[in-house]
Amino acid sequence: MILTRRSFTLGAAALGAATAAGGVRAAPAGGMLDTIILGAGMAGLNTAWLLEQQGQKVMVLEARQRVGGRVFTLLDQPGTPEMGFNAMAAGYGRGIDAAKRAGVELYDVAPRYRAAGGMALVLDGKPLTREQWAASPLNPFPAPFKTAMPWEIVNKIVAAKTPLADWTEWTDPKNAALDVSLRDFLKSQGLSDPAITLAYDTAPYYGTSAFDVSALMLEFNDGFIKTQALAGPQSLAVKGGNSRLPMAMAKLLKGDLLLGKEAVGIVSEADAASVRCADGSTYRAKRIVCALPFAVMRRIKFAPGLSGVQAQAVATLGTQPLSAAFFTIKSRYWDVDTLNPSMWTDGFAGTVQAQLFGTTDSEVTGLMVQGRGTLARYWDRLGKPAALELITHSIEAARPAAKGQISPVTLHSWESEQFSAGAWAVFGPGQVHTLAPTMAAPAGRIHFCGEHTATGARGLEGALESSERVAIEVLSA
Ligand SMILES: Cc1cc2nc3c(=O)[nH]c(=O)nc-3n(C[C@H](O)[C@H](O)[C@H](O)COP(=O)(O)OP(=O)(O)OC[C@H]3O[C@@H](n4cnc5c(N)ncnc54)[C@H](O)[C@@H]3O)c2cc1C
Repeated sequence: MILTRRSFTLGAAALGAATAAGGVRAAPAGGMLDTIILGAGMAGLNTAWLLEQQGQKVMVLEARQRVGGRVFTLLDQPGTPEMGFNAMAAGYGRGIDAAKRAGVELYDVAPRYRAAGGMALVLDGKPLTREQWAASPLNPFPAPFKTAMPWEIVNKIVAAKTPLADWTEWTDPKNAALDVSLRDFLKSQGLSDPAITLAYDTAPYYGTSAFDVSALMLEFNDGFIKTQALAGPQSLAVKGGNSRLPMAMAKLLKGDLLLGKEAVGIVSEADAASVRCADGSTYRAKRIVCALPFAVMRRIKFAPGLSGVQAQAVATLGTQPLSAAFFTIKSRYWDVDTLNPSMWTDGFAGTVQAQLFGTTDSEVTGLMVQGRGTLARYWDRLGKPAALELITHSIEAARPAAKGQISPVTLHSWESEQFSAGAWAVFGPGQVHTLAPTMAAPAGRIHFCGEHTATGARGLEGALESSERVAIEVLSA
């Protein structure tokens, strides 16, 4: 499929030209393309726009039949639930700017979530209030943290005890001594193994356990979050669904954006570079930008092959197992059992987040159920229908008032989806100082960007940061 500036519709002639199997796509009128960008996620789309602003002839090739990558809204479901990217913090200057430029409206969803009052704790299938948890013999946390909920502990400890003097220097080799596992760091702060298992491994945001992730990555994250908080308490989402942002950014492009174009081979030569797609088509340009997760690039054949730290990073940089299931609801069963509709569980239902995207602040438009780490992988092994059934039963067992009141719609596994291979990059212990400083360096005529290559911001803002770096790199090459 081909997207043009004017429309998202398919032009038969254009499609024929774009998918001519085995053929090298001719250069557009006026000479060879300057840059081909692989991937129409936020990093790829913004790189394309930045390069076009500097007069470059650009083409974007996207493997999926949609743009946005990890920004993915179910536009046909109540409340337009977000299976991927949720919200920008107040200090997302690049994200806010991109939204303005693309003409989409941002609104603050934070007040709704603050008013909703957090999440209920459900352990071993039983709900516990904060007071009950503080007094529970099962509570493995040291005295200062007895009243904290399990999901609050790790961030609190990292925020209070981070040894990283300047979070913006997290990748600097001078901080190599801090590039230890999160588990080692938490142990040094007095957490026992059972406490780490409950507070981190049950629903990890990075890896499958505290052994998997570098403490430096969490310390970088902490610095980024604190800086965002200084900018304000807002949490900004796109009116009508976040996917509208990359869709609108795609429309700003002058060059072609071809959908269904999975890059499988990239060749960097002395005077040009070319991309081969799974459908046999080939495209040439002066430079190629890979705006793709490294885990996805493992399946792409590079000639010459990548080498050194870069090859190691592509082969080994971790990605986050995370799956999200969306449920619609038939009634306000939480008024019956008086528990918060949102729950953090140590069971098969993972984390249940009431969606508050209705016309009033308290209207619940559905449930987003997230499995992270080993739970996401367990759902994947079960397969979609069985996993959705298990989640349904687990929610109903924890709160009988929900019985018959929730209906599964879909489950999306970011790890098993071949064009993401995970929700975000995870630097393991030792990987920050060895990989991060040089892994995104250009290889011949090939350049790299994407959230995993950002060093001064995270998430969507990181993806945009990386697009600025790569655009400058391409323009000054
Ligand atoms: C569940 C979830 C929640 C999140 N919440 C937040 C949040 O609240 N705030 C925040 O800031 N960030 C959040 N993020 C992260 C944010 O969405 C990402 O960091 C950002 O969207 C990544 O953009 P990207 O362009 O680097 O990568 P991607 O969005 O992954 O873009 C890569 C693109 O490349 C395409 N592609 C893959 N393989 C090929 C190939 N071989 N050939 C051609 N194209 C290919 C993909 O289809 C995709 O479109 C969340 C992510 C997830 C999954």
